[in-house]
Amino acid sequence: MYVGIFFRENPIVMALFIIIGFLAIIASTVVYFWIGMLSTKAVQVQCPSCGKVTKMLGRVDMCMYCNEPMTLDPTLEGKEFDEKYNSKKKS
Ligand SMILES: [Zn+2]
Repeated sequence: MYVGIFFRENPIVMALFIIIGFLAIIASTVVYFWIGMLSTKAVQVQCPSCGKVTKMLGRVDMCMYCNEPMTLDPTLEGKEFDEKYNSKKKS
């Protein structure tokens, strides 16, 4: 491998690439765990309308079986379903 020979002649460059590769592995691990954390944030609730267990993402979501709007936030209860409640930005 020409690349290997090049690196052997330049130990500093090789060390640099090893560090970059190491950082890339750490970054991908962090992203992997972050996605894992996000997916576990989905709350399982029993739909009051059809009785099936569905997952909720965010504060408001719809039942994936009967599209019954649901909320985890008591202040939003009774209000019309709106995906806007899931975003923290107030438009
Ligand atoms: Zn349902």
